[in-house]
Amino acid sequence: MALIVQKYGGTSIGSIERIQNVARRVAKWKNAGNDMIVVVSAMSGETNRLIDLAKSIQAQPDPRELDVVASTGEQVTIGLLSMALMELGVPARSYTGWQISMLTDSAHNKARILEIDEQNMRADLAAGRVIVVAGFQGVDAAGNITTLGRGGSDTSGVAMAAALRADECQIFTDVDGVYTTDPRIVPQARRLRTITFEEMLEMAGLGSKVLQIRAVEFAGKFQVKLRVLSSLTEPDIRVDEEGDSGTLITFEEDKQMEQALVSGIAFNRDEAKVTVLGVPDKPGIAFAILDPIAKANIEVDVIVQNVGSEGTTDFSFTVHRNDLMRTMDLLTKVKKDIGAKKLIGDDKICKLGLVGVGMRSHVGVASKMFEALAADGINIQMVSTSEIKITVVIDEKYMELAVRTLHKAFGLDEPTEPAMPV
Ligand code: ADP
Ligand code: ASP
Ligand code: MG
Repeated sequence: MALIVQKYGGTSIGSIERIQNVARRVAKWKNAGNDMIVVVSAMSGETNRLIDLAKSIQAQPDPRELDVVASTGEQVTIGLLSMALMELGVPARSYTGWQISMLTDSAHNKARILEIDEQNMRADLAAGRVIVVAGFQGVDAAGNITTLGRGGSDTSGVAMAAALRADECQIFTDVDGVYTTDPRIVPQARRLRTITFEEMLEMAGLGSKVLQIRAVEFAGKFQVKLRVLSSLTEPDIRVDEEGDSGTLITFEEDKQMEQALVSGIAFNRDEAKVTVLGVPDKPGIAFAILDPIAKANIEVDVIVQNVGSEGTTDFSFTVHRNDLMRTMDLLTKVKKDIGAKKLIGDDKICKLGLVGVGMRSHVGVASKMFEALAADGINIQMVSTSEIKITVVIDEKYMELAVRTLHKAFGLDEPTEPAMPV
């Protein structure tokens, strides 16, 4: 008997009919002899609605109270799914994050999971019950409700699988796997049968929302077998067939396969660029700029420091768009101390990256990327590279064009059997 954790996203449980379909799918896996833990999101659009309600009262909602409000969507879906399972004759019990003691730190709105108490869940499993857990939420040591950041139910699912040493964590969503890029932007995108953990980590880090980055980190740390698959197919599809579908995140590169140069392209419009102009070009300046930002728990991504001239330099970096105002406020306070001439905040940018373990053994990927972007007249504002990733920051109005161009330029539009069969 296997222990399976399944996670269902917002679209997958976006209506009563879909919740009933999820129940049929879960019942099928349970009746095939598996112990089942199901983690669910709120119904699609619900978390946005809740956040908007909060913002209609406070433009910058109090983080603790925002979590109290935003976490409620998942409380509805766990109850409804449990009822739908009972209607199918499957014993089920729902739990909120605090009920199972999904212990997190106290970083409201982007809390990290620290520990999960498996005691009660083991008892439920032994009694043959399906456990239905609210994703996205937890509780800190002081008993405050926390949430894990947008898309956080993925992380709840993987963390649950890690804590209970599940045989597999299945992330059910509205696409049938991980694609070469977001199929909504590039219809020619193709599903990957497998993707390495490292590649998935980079794709998620670049904003490919199919998996939240922390979910991938968890999977890596605890070696959780992770698969992304569709909830929108016929729920009665055979268990063995379904269990082999979608995209498997692998921990080893398949040495047999001819590695594609680039496996995927990810992008996101949620970033903003901050430029600090005319700071003295001297040791410690990067620290002086970034330290107050780090202390405010704001994540900084691409960083570029220009070559200095006449003793001064310009320093740019990206932050999440939601953090732009706070970052500008913090820098305005230290502007004089660091000797900056001017601060510029730009939220009309997008970050886009090519990912592929094949880059390790090939040269010229960056120049090919720059050539393709130049041919479309797209200016590159920032560049950063790692062993298996090249990231650029460009004007957001060119985002879709750039993704399509690069998808084609790197041969991702065409089937390259057997590396990426659909
Ligand atoms: P859920 O509500 O199930 O968590 P999300 O909307 O968070 O679903 O994530 C699924 C979406 O991720 C897809 O509908 C797709 O538009 C988007 N996406 C972005 N990049 C990719 C990719 N490389 N492969 C598949 N889907 C992707
Ligand atoms: N409901 C939450 C959100 O919309 C969590 C999730 O869907 O994973 O971000
Ligand atoms: Mg999601």
